[in-house]
Amino acid sequence: MWPSEGQGGSCVADCLFCGIVKGEIPSEKVYEDDRVLAFKDINPVAPVHVLLIPKEHHSDVMEAADRDPAVLGHLFTVASKLAKELGLSEKGFRVVNNCGKDGGQTVFHLHFHLIGGRQLTWPPG
Ligand code: C5P
Repeated sequence: MWPSEGQGGSCVADCLFCGIVKGEIPSEKVYEDDRVLAFKDINPVAPVHVLLIPKEHHSDVMEAADRDPAVLGHLFTVASKLAKELGLSEKGFRVVNNCGKDGGQTVFHLHFHLIGGRQLTWPPG
């Protein structure tokens, strides 16, 4: 069982990103609305590295797809808006979701990485 499985919904105790949503853990916010928060990744892998999260806790993309599929579309809409605002739309960028252990997920509150500002390589490791 993955951490936080079966606990979808609003804030979950001991969840790092729920702590950021609640303002208990500091973050450098770049966007916020009633459903989504975006903030700079604490360990950026590119000149632009922003994390987009739903304010409601879903442990991963599969749980969000089951419980609130509309928020996934909204997250991509916000990612596109931020990509434009952060100057990435001309040269390009990447939106990444790591899901589960083999996918490289380390924080079990759904998040999309918006990465850009340099030439990105493929395939990922
Ligand atoms: O996809 P994954 O779960 O590995 O990504 C988690 C991301 O959360 C990492 O890029 C990490 O740098 C970021 N992070 C953060 N602020 C924290 C803890 C982790 O931006 N306080």
